[in-house]
Amino acid sequence: MIYKNYPMVARVVFGRGSYNQLADTIAPKRLNANAPFIFLVDEVFKGDTLISSGIPLAYDDELIFISADEEPKTSQVDELVERIILTHKERPSGIIGIGGGTILDLAKAVAIMLTNEGEAKDYQGWDLVKTPAIYHVGVPTISGTGAEVSRTTVLTGPDKKLGINSDYTPFDQVILDPELTVGVPKDQWFYTGMDCYIHCIESLNGTFLNAFSQSYGEKAFEMCKEIFLDNQLSKEEAQDKLMMASWHGGMSIAYSQVGVAHAMSYGLSYMLGVKHGLGNCLVFDHLEEFYPEGVKLFKHMKQVHGIQLPQSVCANLDDEQFDTMIDVSLGMEPLWQNAIGKNWKQVITRQKLKSIFEKI
Ligand code: NAD
Ligand code: ZN
Repeated sequence: MIYKNYPMVARVVFGRGSYNQLADTIAPKRLNANAPFIFLVDEVFKGDTLISSGIPLAYDDELIFISADEEPKTSQVDELVERIILTHKERPSGIIGIGGGTILDLAKAVAIMLTNEGEAKDYQGWDLVKTPAIYHVGVPTISGTGAEVSRTTVLTGPDKKLGINSDYTPFDQVILDPELTVGVPKDQWFYTGMDCYIHCIESLNGTFLNAFSQSYGEKAFEMCKEIFLDNQLSKEEAQDKLMMASWHGGMSIAYSQVGVAHAMSYGLSYMLGVKHGLGNCLVFDHLEEFYPEGVKLFKHMKQVHGIQLPQSVCANLDDEQFDTMIDVSLGMEPLWQNAIGKNWKQVITRQKLKSIFEKI
């Protein structure tokens, strides 16, 4: 048995208003006047003074707004890298991603691809990255995915949706300022928050569970229950706690794995472009068989917050499309192993997955 030697985020700032320290935090990392900082910012913040006031553009620095309507693609990473190389005199001093999981993953991938040859799709998998990435900073503006703390950047490529999992993927610096999450729309808050909740359920109920994962998973699970079910919490307390629950949920799966909802949600997302948080909710709603307690509580939280999940999402799919979704889901072998155990292939049949997808 070889135990993973897990890289962590090197530095982290936490606190309401801590975003104002971004400029001072990154300043010592500027290599020279020709090596800019590139800020990748969710387009939703165009014209937002809170976000722009914290972005200290100087010298050749560039701010690039990016839509988070679709999840990141390998081709998008390659285009951004090419644009940065062609626009600037020198390799950047750093990449700063400001946004949700979509933007954070793009920032991580661009930082890696600025120092590694070839295309982003060549690095989808485990430990394929050879050269350290350039300095990269993550500033989450919505909480739940754990992308701020994870060792992966999930990308959709020409033939698969798979992360670049490597020791060079985690951020060198993260700034956790819960105030930045104030404008998140309610549905999105729930979907991305439930990503964290589902990380906990899948980690805590998985066969890979160990004391390391459990310690983080239990804490994050407890915080999720407070955030989504305790109406005594102030808005600010709930924002602070969800940001930390996301972090702990991410740490929990780092040393274990996610499970059934994630495996099937990857299929849904690959086929229909359904985003990660919503996709997880759509699947998890029908997983009583695997996570009876977790699903019961999920349904309760959905009801408390008046969340109506979209219906009949898979209604118009033909057999071939169901097959593709099932293939993508079954391809996530470690997730099934964690969820069910070594004998998972005897339990998880194509027909079973199809019958769950048909309910969505
Ligand atoms: P997101 O980044 O896709 O954003 C969701 C929506 O919220 C977007 O419309 C965005 O514009 C909006 N938004 C974000 N912050 C806002 C704010 N402060 N105010 C108003 N609107 C705001 O959401 P997400 O759920 O955080 O990320 C999903 C992505 O994360 C997926 O691509 C998924 O694959 C990835 N992911 C990565 C990991 C990892 O470990 N790397 C883990 C889980 C998910
Ligand atoms: Zn997730």
